[in-house]
Amino acid sequence: MQIAQNLLSIKSTLPEQVTLVAVSKTKPVSDLMQAYDAGQRIFGENKIQEMAEKWEAMPKDIQWQMIGHVQTNKVKFMAPFVNLIHGVDSLKLLQEIDKQAKKNDRIIECLLQMHIAEEETKFGLDEEELNEILSPENLPEMKNIRIVGLMGMATFTDNQSQIKKEFLHLKSIFDKLQKMNTSNCKLETLSMGMSGDYKLAIDCGSTMIRIGSSIFGGRS
Ligand SMILES: *Cc1c(COP(=O)(O)O)cnc(C)c1O
Repeated sequence: MQIAQNLLSIKSTLPEQVTLVAVSKTKPVSDLMQAYDAGQRIFGENKIQEMAEKWEAMPKDIQWQMIGHVQTNKVKFMAPFVNLIHGVDSLKLLQEIDKQAKKNDRIIECLLQMHIAEEETKFGLDEEELNEILSPENLPEMKNIRIVGLMGMATFTDNQSQIKKEFLHLKSIFDKLQKMNTSNCKLETLSMGMSGDYKLAIDCGSTMIRIGSSIFGGRS
């Protein structure tokens, strides 16, 4: 009951253009089913094997999204079903996703993950690496991927003005690339904001928020 209530109360506050990804990592299928029964169809996981097990166990109208860091050699395990990969942070990874998508006769949507936080430990591209991936030499060859947006994670801090600065930085990169419109790249989704900072993220232009603990409770 609590999970459904949490979900519905968050949803009721969201502007129309914002998509909610229910981040269900570490949680059992029974918890996910409570969200499903309350209408949720988009779930985010950060481990490929865990996501694949849940995909097998749960209804097939769910969209499964990979929000964690992806190792190239594991792409094949999610290529048959994954709906959106948030954490694409290298050309090599993008090429592997393209290859595995092709084997499965699918097109897989991707977000490029940008490094916007102060912490060195967080993954993501800088602007130079982003432009390299988006360059005309690299993109045209990949017919089985679509780059549909950007993703970023702010620094883990209570300092709201710093988080805001980082979100606005990501939004400005996103805006700069709006004119791109090729067969496999058109940026429409800006994935930023988690339980602690999603309201601020929406104010800064987020169109996709990834919420875990505020729906499912804390993780141990
Ligand atoms: C775990 C996770 C989330 C959700 O975090 P909460 O604080 O529980 O909402 C969002 N994005 C990524 C990339 C995550 O790994």
